[in-house]
Amino acid sequence: MIAKPATEFTYPTQDDVRLNPVPDAGKPWWERVEGETPQPPKTESWRKYSPDAQLKEYEFLLRDVLKVDSLEGKVKGYDSTSGNFAEINRFAGMATAMHDVSHDGDRDPVRMRIVSNEEGQRHIETFLPPSISGSDGGVGLHQRFSEEGWAGMSGDHKYGGLDLPHAFSGAISEMMMSANPGYTVLEMLSSGVAKAIEAKGSDELKAQWLPRINSGKFTGAMVMTEPNYGSSLIDMETTVQLDADGKAGKVYGYKRFLSSADHNATIGKNGERNIVHMVLARTADADGNLLKDDKGRAKLSLVLVPRVLLDKDGNYVDENGNRVDKPDTNHVRAAKLNDKMGLEVQSNTDAAYDGSKGFIVGEVGDGLKNMFVIMNEARMAVGLQGVGIAELVRQNMERYVAEERKQGVGGQLVNYPDIQDKILTMRAHIDAGRSIAAEVGMAFDQTMHADTDSMTTRQKADLQRYVDVMTPLVKWGLTEKCDRAIDQGLQAMGGAGYMREWGIAQAYIDSRIARIYEGSNPVLAMGVATFQLKNMDAFLNKIRRDMTTLNADGDMADITTPLNTAINTFQSATDWMQVTGLRAKSGDEVAIQEFQAAASHYMELMYEVAAGTALAKNACVAKQKLRESATLPAEDKAFYENKIATARYYSNAVIAPEHAMHYAKMTLNARYLELPDREIERTEPTLMQQGAKTATLALVKATRLVSGFWQGENGRDGQCR
Ligand SMILES: Cc1cc2nc3c(=O)[nH]c(=O)nc-3n(C[C@H](O)[C@H](O)[C@H](O)COP(=O)(O)OP(=O)(O)OC[C@H]3O[C@@H](n4cnc5c(N)ncnc54)[C@H](O)[C@@H]3O)c2cc1C
Repeated sequence: MIAKPATEFTYPTQDDVRLNPVPDAGKPWWERVEGETPQPPKTESWRKYSPDAQLKEYEFLLRDVLKVDSLEGKVKGYDSTSGNFAEINRFAGMATAMHDVSHDGDRDPVRMRIVSNEEGQRHIETFLPPSISGSDGGVGLHQRFSEEGWAGMSGDHKYGGLDLPHAFSGAISEMMMSANPGYTVLEMLSSGVAKAIEAKGSDELKAQWLPRINSGKFTGAMVMTEPNYGSSLIDMETTVQLDADGKAGKVYGYKRFLSSADHNATIGKNGERNIVHMVLARTADADGNLLKDDKGRAKLSLVLVPRVLLDKDGNYVDENGNRVDKPDTNHVRAAKLNDKMGLEVQSNTDAAYDGSKGFIVGEVGDGLKNMFVIMNEARMAVGLQGVGIAELVRQNMERYVAEERKQGVGGQLVNYPDIQDKILTMRAHIDAGRSIAAEVGMAFDQTMHADTDSMTTRQKADLQRYVDVMTPLVKWGLTEKCDRAIDQGLQAMGGAGYMREWGIAQAYIDSRIARIYEGSNPVLAMGVATFQLKNMDAFLNKIRRDMTTLNADGDMADITTPLNTAINTFQSATDWMQVTGLRAKSGDEVAIQEFQAAASHYMELMYEVAAGTALAKNACVAKQKLRESATLPAEDKAFYENKIATARYYSNAVIAPEHAMHYAKMTLNARYLELPDREIERTEPTLMQQGAKTATLALVKATRLVSGFWQGENGRDGQCR
């Protein structure tokens, strides 16, 4: 039983067309003056971005705090960390070029035209601004980015990649997100697709597609979401019907909201669109029978669907592999240009598949697991979307309140305590997010490439569990906190923040999606509460090791004391989840409701512990640096003093009150979740009961471990000594 054929869908109709987006609406004010030659205003202050601050931060973080050199020679890619630092410094020029065109989408958003294929079916083709695609004959951003080697920055050297480890490619991702988040999303997903092929694809698929994607001649798109299935992928309808050998098949269905699944930055010599779709689909056998797992759920498979069929040498072929003269576009049709809120230099379309030839990546039925290779890569990058955009806003906001706006005490806005509060909030969230992502990036690299001689199997398994619990936390925490920080940055700039010319308005819009895609944040929080509690001991053990070192430094008490209390609260929260999980397991519907209502607040408590510890580690190293040298240059002295002030602010003025609030909300909220004007159908309990059971078993283990920590080693007062 194959899914509805895509031909049943009616897109596109003329109503969906945006051939010529509202004339002039996207143009800046000086180009909207009647009868005059447009003249940009002469203003020095118009949205600026410099990657220098981030380069300094990463030098400190990776070299001094996380001791990245210790992985040298042990983990693939860390062969010469000085070379890795040179690469991220080399990226600075690219980041500046990216930022130069990041607003072109505001003025000239993605356009589309309707075309018909040979069967007379209508579809669309979308066009990025020329400065990105190069469609005006110039060197577009994508060409420059690819020619400098960045398209394959974390790809395997054997297939044309730069082999840059995550700790360093993360630094580049952050700069990319500051410079031009729209274009970055295209590259982020493309490199995720390459990673999935690298990790799960056959040798043939690797040889055929990796050099093409790593060189930027093709890009990759991640294809999961359907009109009725975004968060609930297991119920999707798109289906791949396998060929007799089970290695390839034909895809039927309709997917929506796809980033960069259709664009003109990689056009082939006959106008074909060189894009690879990585599609998640139900699986049917050659007779059309849906394959099910032992619980009766559809088996999902990951399918590589090229938008143009090629043989291994790059010749055009048809679906049977026979050479043809013209490109075979594989029955993939872009079906609708989605009119999104931001990320304007990048396209988002729906796609219809009408028997599109696809190649199975990994094992049949392992689709969701294999798609997680892309999703985990993307979740790290989306977390850094929050950090990168917040950093852009911070740079502009700090300059504005200290130099541009002459008002208030001493003629500067920065002298108001409320503005200082906003600056510290931004600095703390950015610094914490960056630090957590870099540390998780290093762990990620170690799990993938660790030399088994230097790690026991048990250590490697623990590291994997740490990565498993931290990856959703990175995505959730960095996007939640930085997005809220961006709002503070805009507020500090007042009206200038709201006007497009300062760039904050676009940043505000571009960052918002990060809390929605790659797993909507509330759904991620539910996922952690339900399925990741079994790995919570890996998180707590890591915090425990860090706190032991920090508590040993007698100079850190003003930062660690509130942090220790916060860890205590997190312990209580974990106990609460355990008890609630036990009640939920026994079928108590109130408990099921409470468990779900608590998830996001539990996540807040967990993230703040992680963030506070990361900032405290930075502060601890900064204190050492200040102690070591009495003759530091003023700039370095200020840099280290900022680390200490930020950690002190976060531990005392952010974590302490927020932990109290979230703990209260976590345990109380569910009691008041009533909508008297609606009859609420309570969540079907099976999944939650399953989740609660897993959670409960894991929590017993985690609690025992944590209790050991608090009682055995530190006394019951929760103070780490
Ligand atoms: C700009 C943009 C780019 C995108 N790019 C891609 C792409 O490249 N490829 C791709 O496949 N998809 C893409 N998506 C889709 C994106 O991943 C989904 O929109 C996202 O996963 C949410 O799914 P949904 O929109 O169906 O929301 P829904 O699943 O309908 O959710 C709506 C709301 O309900 C909440 N909710 C749902 N279930 C639960 C639950 N169990 N518990 C608590 N809350 C819940 C969610 O948090 C959300 O707030 C993109 C979306 C956008 C907007």
